[in-house]
Amino acid sequence: MVDTAPRGTGANGVEGGVGLTALLVAAARAIETHRPDSLAQDVYAEHFVRSAPASAHWPVHLDQAPDGDASPLWGRFARYFGLRTRVLDDFLLRSVRSGGARQVVLLGAGLDARAFRLDWPPDCVIFEIDRDGVLAFKHEVLGALSAAPRATRVPVAADLRTDWAGALRAAGFDPAVPTAWLAEGLLFYLPGAAETDLIGTVDRLSAAGSALAYEVKLEKDLMEYRASPLYTSTREQLGIDLLSLFSREQRPDSAARLASSGWSASVHTPFEFTHRHGRGPLPDNRNDALAGNRWVFASRPGPERQRPRRPGPWC
Ligand code: SAM
Repeated sequence: MVDTAPRGTGANGVEGGVGLTALLVAAARAIETHRPDSLAQDVYAEHFVRSAPASAHWPVHLDQAPDGDASPLWGRFARYFGLRTRVLDDFLLRSVRSGGARQVVLLGAGLDARAFRLDWPPDCVIFEIDRDGVLAFKHEVLGALSAAPRATRVPVAADLRTDWAGALRAAGFDPAVPTAWLAEGLLFYLPGAAETDLIGTVDRLSAAGSALAYEVKLEKDLMEYRASPLYTSTREQLGIDLLSLFSREQRPDSAARLASSGWSASVHTPFEFTHRHGRGPLPDNRNDALAGNRWVFASRPGPERQRPRRPGPWC
C-alpha cells in the first residue's frame, strides 16, 4: 500500500504528543475563519487539518461540530484560539509597522501561517522555530498549495528545551536588529527551567526596540481543572489529554524577570480582549480551564528611551 500521508505526520510531527496540539489550534483557526463574525482569517488552517490522518475527520466549520457553538471544544475553546490569533496578529503587525522590529521569531510556531497571511513590510524576516517533524509537515502541506510567504520566511528546526539560540543565529538571525518575539501556546509545555532559559535567551538576543508576547497559565494546581468542560471534551473527542502534556512544575515569574532586565511588561486576561473586540470567550465561574490564562506583552525600550516605561501601544 502506498502511504500518501505528508511527511511530518509521525510521532515527532503532528500526529502525537505536543505536535497534535498544533492541529487542534489549526482546526480552531479554520472554524474561526468560517464564522460570519470572524476575528482572524487563516485560509491555510483547514488544509493542515485535512492533510493529517489524525485530524482529517475533525470539524473545520462550526456546522460540522455536533453541538455547534454550544460545544465546549469547538465553540468556546475554538473561539479562545480565534481571539488569541487576532490579538497576537495585531501585536506582531504593530511591532513591525510602528514599533520598528524587522525580525519576527515565532517560538513553537506549529502551524502558524502568519508568514503567508499577514501584510508584512517588505524587509521583514520571519523565523519559525519548532520541532523538525512539525516543520516538515507544514512544508509539505504549504508546498502542495504552492503557498508563497509574504515576507522572508526561515524555518528553524530546534528543541526549545535545549540551546536553540545557536540554530537561530546560524539561520541568519541578527541580535542587533529589533525583534518581535512570540510564544503562543508554548510555555506551559516546557519545564520551568526551560521557560527561564528561553526568556533569558530572548532577553539576551533582543536589541533595544524589541517586543515579546507570550501566554502563561497561573493556576497553582492544574489538576483541579481535570474535569473542566474544555479539558474533558478535548480528551474525550480528540484523544488529546492537555493536562498530561502541560508541565506541572512550578512556573517562573517571567514577567518579573523581564521587568528586572529593563523591559516593560503588562499582563492581561483573555476576557479583556473579548470585551475589546465584542466577541470571544466570556468568563465562566464553573470549573473554567481558561481562568488562569494570561497574555503577557513586554517591550524593551528603544534607543530614545532606555528606562523602564509603561507597556507599548499593542495592549
Ligand atoms: N504557536 C502555534 C499556534 O499557536 O498555532 C502552535 C501552538 S501548539 C499548541 C504548540 C507548539 O509548540 C507545537 O507546534 C509543538 O511542536 C511546539 N513545541 C512544544 N514543545 C516544543 C519544544 N520543546 N521545542 C520546539 N517546539 C515545541
